[in-house]
Amino acid sequence: MPSLPQFDQAAFENPFVDELPGEASGDNRPRQVPGYCYSRVAPTPVADPHLLAWSEALGALLGLATPAARGPAVAALAGNLVTASMKPFAARYGGHQFGNWAGQLGDGRAIALGQVVAVDGARQEIQLKGAGPTPYSRRGDGRAVLRSSLREFLCSEAMHYLGVPTTRALSLVATGDEVVRDMFYDGHAAPEPGAVVARVAPTFIRFGNFQLLAASGEIDNLRALADYVLRHHYPELGPPTPETYVRWFVEIARRTAIMVAHWMTVGFVHGVLNTDNMSILGLTIDYGPYGWLEPYNLSWTPNTTDFGGRRYAFGQQPRMGMWNLMALAQALGPLVPDPQALRAGLDTYADTLAATQHALLLRKLGLTARAPAADQALTEALPPALAEAGVDMTIFFRQLSHLAPALVAAGDHAGSYRALLAQAAYPEPGTTAEALLAWLDRYAQRLRQEPAPPSELRAAMLAANPKYVLRNYLAQTAIEAAETGDLAPLNTLFEVLKTPFAEHPAHEELAAKRPEWARDKPGSATLSCSS
Ligand code: AMP
Ligand code: MG
Repeated sequence: MPSLPQFDQAAFENPFVDELPGEASGDNRPRQVPGYCYSRVAPTPVADPHLLAWSEALGALLGLATPAARGPAVAALAGNLVTASMKPFAARYGGHQFGNWAGQLGDGRAIALGQVVAVDGARQEIQLKGAGPTPYSRRGDGRAVLRSSLREFLCSEAMHYLGVPTTRALSLVATGDEVVRDMFYDGHAAPEPGAVVARVAPTFIRFGNFQLLAASGEIDNLRALADYVLRHHYPELGPPTPETYVRWFVEIARRTAIMVAHWMTVGFVHGVLNTDNMSILGLTIDYGPYGWLEPYNLSWTPNTTDFGGRRYAFGQQPRMGMWNLMALAQALGPLVPDPQALRAGLDTYADTLAATQHALLLRKLGLTARAPAADQALTEALPPALAEAGVDMTIFFRQLSHLAPALVAAGDHAGSYRALLAQAAYPEPGTTAEALLAWLDRYAQRLRQEPAPPSELRAAMLAANPKYVLRNYLAQTAIEAAETGDLAPLNTLFEVLKTPFAEHPAHEELAAKRPEWARDKPGSATLSCSS
């Protein structure tokens, strides 16, 4: 068998650059770029690129060999080597940030290299995040620090293995350069190690790409970009017509709803749901100050920039998905004779979100749909009960899976409930488990109507309730070790997160509830956009 090509030997295709209008001055000074969908720009080389992590499975999907720590492949993954078939570009987009129109944003530190054809025939774009300045860098330096890059690398892969729609990460490369950041915007700027993540997705086009074109009155470009996305990413919808645009918006809304439903049932908080961070494919994109729920709390966000309004808190995410879709609908308005037709997408979002959340929760609870109205009432009563009790969502569902066979048997389950709460509850002031205990009784009764034998029930629930998620303090522990050159915690965590539904007896500690020391720890429980 011929050996697999290295990354620097991969053949790139460049439809985005070849089919859409872009500017090719190569000038990477910050500026407005009216009239174009992208700017051609070369990555800026770094001092000493070396590989810190590589996603074997994604590499295999792309048909690529695992690179050595240093060499041409890693040079290409850091932007030091641009090969003949690459046509690097930074996309032009805008967006609403925290509800306010921000005008042109664009890829300020991400540079796409083009697409490669994966072994399954699908085309995947490869984008280097932290590869240097572009016309869209505004006041930024175009770079990324190791801590945020490691977080993006690990979380995008972890989300993939949890079954959540997401962009992926192929490599984490240290640059050998330092990057100065004021981590908490409090006047304490300090140098930190820099890194580049190679991100992978069919496309990184966002709601904001369309918004900026519509806001600038560039309707020909708006239509060209919509047709490009239809042609390459939604071919099943057929050739572009006003009706196709409407069906396309409905499909974007459906996918967005499915993504948000997954976040809500896995305990993921994106942290910055600005419209420039919404993928046109319904993928989780732009991992910044995200976090994982520790005590179940609908108003929790890790993003310190959002502590005032909590616009993007856990429980707000469904609403924000809708808000962002309304912004996209407004941008697509000029393409359809009757913009009111786009309302169908908003209805689809609401319906799909409710139905998917319900279906995912039923699966987590080991229930097959039986009495729709009663089951709906049961799943809807759970989040408020979890919030009142402030339990760890991941541990709650995992332990509930183990408990299910006992709950099927009639009798008094008080002892089981106590054990469950002891495992999952945090010592938070003001929490009360009364509603959750009542809910568990309802649930136990409902469970008895399931025809599956208890052992099958338990197995099905264990396959739906991960034991391992990227807990905030675990990511921070891996970061602190990596910053001192110790990659063992990163490697171990990555390995375990690849099979989050399996038991890893040697790594029970990675399933542990947040320890008290991590409660308010910067970088763990609290993060800023400084990355
Ligand atoms: P984000 O909040 O990460 O989604 O970024 C919002 C905008 O700021 C995007 O246009 C980014 O490309 C840009 N940006 C963020 N960090 C930097 C940086 N260090 N250098 C240049 N642009 C940046
Ligand atoms: Mg962004």
